[in-house]
Amino acid sequence: MAGSVSPGTDITGRDHTGMFTKILYPTDFSDIAMKAFDVVKQLKDAGAEEVIILHVIDSRFFDAMAWYATKDLKEIERDLNKEAKNQVKKLEDELKEAGFKATVRIEEGIPSSVILKIERDEGISAIVIGSHGTSNLQEILIGSVSEKVIRRAESMVLVVKR
Ligand code: ATP
Ligand code: MN
Repeated sequence: MAGSVSPGTDITGRDHTGMFTKILYPTDFSDIAMKAFDVVKQLKDAGAEEVIILHVIDSRFFDAMAWYATKDLKEIERDLNKEAKNQVKKLEDELKEAGFKATVRIEEGIPSSVILKIERDEGISAIVIGSHGTSNLQEILIGSVSEKVIRRAESMVLVVKR
């Protein structure tokens, strides 16, 4: 009907009901997370428009480090942040070049909790995540971050296998 706004569209008439419209892509920069990144890029053809690239610096790592760190913790934190910034910047540029709206987030906390919080806050359509990450143990079916995300996510989760 002319002038009406149907469910799933906003006032501009843009469709927000696409399965992959707004993607949350959490990465630990592992090979498998990079494989998931390739899948993200390919989702352009499936209607993906916007991608949030998220890296979480695990706060539990700092708690453990505090016991035996010789280096200043603040300095380690700064290094990790800087390194993460460099890495996500490359991914952001690549996505923009491919015509996506891309934003980056670097957060400190427990990875699964931060991923799920951003999922809720940002109205994500789908999470694209690796089945495994930096640990990538052979006998493990799925990594602990992925497992928690699959259990608790409200949106669809696309798990990219190793
Ligand atoms: P574990 O961490 O349980 O020892 P793992 O490292 O093999 O196992 P996960 O950590 O669950 O597996 O990683 C699975 C996926 O979760 C990664 O491919 C990545 O997409 C995402 N991920 C893992 N850690 C982070 C993180 N710190 N920040 C953002 N995304 C992450
Ligand atoms: Mn991991």
